[in-house]
Amino acid sequence: MAEFSMELNADQETLRDWVHGFSEGVLRPAAAEWDEREETPWPIIQEAANLGIYSLDFLANAFADTTGLSIVIALEELAWGDAGLCMAIMGSTLAVAGIMSNGTPEQQMEWIPQCFGTPGDLKLAAFAVTEPDAGSDVSSLRTRAVYDEASDEWVLNGTKTWITNGGIANLHVVVASVDPALGSRGQASFIVPEGTPGIRMGQKFKKMGIRASHTAEVVLEDCRVPGRCLLGGKEKLDERLARAREGQRSSVQAAMATFEASRPAVGAQALGIARAAYEYALDYAKERRQFGRAIIENQGIAFKLADMKTRVDASRLLVWRAAWMAANRKPFTSGEGSMSKLYASETAVKVTEEAIQILGGYGYVREYPVERWHRDSKIYTIFEGTSEIQRLIVARAISGVHIR
Ligand SMILES: Cc1cc2nc3c(=O)[nH]c(=O)nc-3n(C[C@H](O)[C@H](O)[C@H](O)COP(=O)(O)OP(=O)(O)OC[C@H]3O[C@@H](n4cnc5c(N)ncnc54)[C@H](O)[C@@H]3O)c2cc1C
Repeated sequence: MAEFSMELNADQETLRDWVHGFSEGVLRPAAAEWDEREETPWPIIQEAANLGIYSLDFLANAFADTTGLSIVIALEELAWGDAGLCMAIMGSTLAVAGIMSNGTPEQQMEWIPQCFGTPGDLKLAAFAVTEPDAGSDVSSLRTRAVYDEASDEWVLNGTKTWITNGGIANLHVVVASVDPALGSRGQASFIVPEGTPGIRMGQKFKKMGIRASHTAEVVLEDCRVPGRCLLGGKEKLDERLARAREGQRSSVQAAMATFEASRPAVGAQALGIARAAYEYALDYAKERRQFGRAIIENQGIAFKLADMKTRVDASRLLVWRAAWMAANRKPFTSGEGSMSKLYASETAVKVTEEAIQILGGYGYVREYPVERWHRDSKIYTIFEGTSEIQRLIVARAISGVHIR
């Protein structure tokens, strides 16, 4: 087991400084343009791939860190540069997490490299769970997967919504119901490889924030994938379904397994936005003069900054703890993964709003980045489990009571 330390080791410091340099030099200057364009920022993803940040190696190296901190350090730095561009670069990793949590070792070897491609041939991946009538309640998915024994194929039908990289991804991981009567225990994850007929993009959404990240519907119409695209394999699925039908509890729920593992990583991105806004507001408050003195000389402003910094640091402690626990297979007995995402995301909303207040009118206009950071922050309290759902998870974990 790796010791938990708040002092970064030499490798972690090098990683942080390297990613920070990319973020400061490439993401920050490009952020406003891609927010306005609201398109997939291919040149930025390409630059990240050329440097090795958009790559399987980057992820593999980060996950090889037994303290669990490398990935959250890197994500904090990327989101500090710009959350929308960070999501455009990191959106494929949700599919990777889906394959890691549910795929066999052979499936992981085959499909994960295809989520990124190579610098000369970039690929994107998407993880599709949410549906128009199944958001927080992932047990009620309507997308069906039916096995065609004659051809050893799965036939997928349904509509997914709000999917990051949806429809433009080369590879989609789709969570579908095999036996709807079993709720989430009757679900499984499927790879839909590049070029499969029957999968297409529905509407692309216009968003409040993280606008450089593509979000769209994914429509599946008699979409046939080979039997080997069922993550985990048919034998395991059949055993799991049989156990569920006998009323036994299963430890694996396709969608939830992925989200649980990714929560500290989502918290880390929210933390990056909050830190960016805090730093910007602190500098501004020292510079801006009203009534003949810097505005920071007023307690009304200085105390805001004290609270912002306290919340940013508390978020980091929660994120690092959860990342360390996950890497060291410590169970989240008090919902620590959820706590980290809940607190960091609400901090990002609060701190960016306070930053706007500290900048006054300058905070409200697009020449300055803080209004964008505020718009970007809000999604972190919604996706990968809303704040209410995170509170539910923590409340159930600490009480043992099935709170609704
Ligand atoms: C930009 C963006 C990107 C996304 N990317 C992806 C993606 O890549 N893949 C994917 O599968 N999904 C993705 N999502 C979907 C996202 O995870 C869902 O939007 C989220 O889970 C909430 O679902 P919902 O929007 O249907 O809200 P609902 O579940 O309808 O919730 C509405 C409100 O009711 C509250 N609520 C619901 N149930 C309860 C309860 N039991 N107790 C208390 N309050 C409750 C919620 O907290 C919320 O406030 C994305 C969404 C967005 C906006």
